[in-house]
Amino acid sequence: MNVYDSERIKNLFENKNYFETKDVKKADIVILNTCHIREKAAEKVYSDIGRIKKIKNKINNKYKLVVAGCVAQAEGEEIKSRAPSVDYIVGPQSYHKLPSMIDENNSFINDEFLQNEKFNKLIFKTSNKISEFVTVQEGCDKFCSFCVVPYTRGSEFSRSVNEINEEIKNYTDSGIKEVILLGQNVNAYHGKNIKGKQVDLAYLINSISENDNIQRIRYMTSHPNDMTDSLIIAHGSNPKLMPFLHLPIQSGSDNILQKMNRKHNVKQYYEIVNKLKLSRPDIALSSDFIVGFPGETNDDFDKTMKLIEKIKFTIAYSFIYSPRPGTPAFNKNNIDLAVKKARLSALQSLLKEHQDNYNKKFLKKEVEVLFERKGRHKNQFIGRTIYNQSVFVNSKSNLLGQIKKVDILRSTNFALEGTV
Ligand code: SAH
Ligand code: SF4
Repeated sequence: MNVYDSERIKNLFENKNYFETKDVKKADIVILNTCHIREKAAEKVYSDIGRIKKIKNKINNKYKLVVAGCVAQAEGEEIKSRAPSVDYIVGPQSYHKLPSMIDENNSFINDEFLQNEKFNKLIFKTSNKISEFVTVQEGCDKFCSFCVVPYTRGSEFSRSVNEINEEIKNYTDSGIKEVILLGQNVNAYHGKNIKGKQVDLAYLINSISENDNIQRIRYMTSHPNDMTDSLIIAHGSNPKLMPFLHLPIQSGSDNILQKMNRKHNVKQYYEIVNKLKLSRPDIALSSDFIVGFPGETNDDFDKTMKLIEKIKFTIAYSFIYSPRPGTPAFNKNNIDLAVKKARLSALQSLLKEHQDNYNKKFLKKEVEVLFERKGRHKNQFIGRTIYNQSVFVNSKSNLLGQIKKVDILRSTNFALEGTV
């Protein structure tokens, strides 16, 4: 979502005759759009501020330094005292105000929750060619005991179906073929349709798929408790909805899930997976895992490994638990770092083995690939299968934006390679 927000910030400034430069030395305004989810991401902001200051001071340049995003929301005052070179601080729900903050130079910090106003003020221009993120839902009311999102992004907010379709029309008019619907809990979507009736994510997806230019729809990130029957059915009935689902479980132990306040157990997760497979037998599943949550025993960890062994995720993201100030788990007994590292490494090798095996199944098969970007090598193009695997091919003709059948010749745990 930070990528999406950064694009919107860029569009707001383009409207005021600024243009993007990746060269810090040339910039009149430097904007750090930040993430607060784990300590490492949050701390990076301070080292980046130092790095930028050094570069800028060398050329004695006048510039404005902005910290945007969730670190700005959570640590505004701290940034002010730790990094006096920062000129403006703006949170993820008020960044539409940034151009006027700079023009008028009268406010240093804005951390208001202005979701509705924000989306009405944003500008939606695509700089991609093929696939575009679209935020449809923001925020979270679930309060998992480890997570900062409810505090940084605020409570759940859903945009209207019409507003989302209008935004997507901007993109398809510029040639976009795929949308990835975004939300911290995207399947908790409950926006209004054109008649003012509250509708769910399945309704939104079916409505978006009426746009003839849209060929593929994906969404992330989903919470198991919001995996409704209508959404599960959409996976079986809507051919534009891709058979890939990122459905984080975090841990395979009921004891830990309870401590995390996830509000569901392992059995319920299996039930959802079974229903999904009945609806769309080939659906590829992915998850997030946190290892070393306070109180996680060897037995709890083994349960996570068993769950992974059973479900065989086609890809997954795994993290060492990071204690976040202000969250209920913060002051709980932290597990030894060496133990956490060993668990992460064991978990990641198992995940990697499954990814590798999954990708091997595609060898000598033909798959449909939507080509999204050029590779690093000459004539190389990169696209994705319906299951979200990256595919590399060589081609003398331009494949961007096209869906082509590809014969898979090689596979690794992270990508496939083949010929059109
Ligand atoms: N709403 C989604 C996840 C959003 S946060 C869900 O509930 O599944 C994205 C991921 O960051 C989480 O799935 C979790 O694995 C990870 N994460 C969040 N807080 C964390 C923390 N304190 N330490 C380590 N990982 C964390
Ligand atoms: Fe964070 Fe997801 Fe839990 Fe919300 S549901 S608190 S975003 S982990």
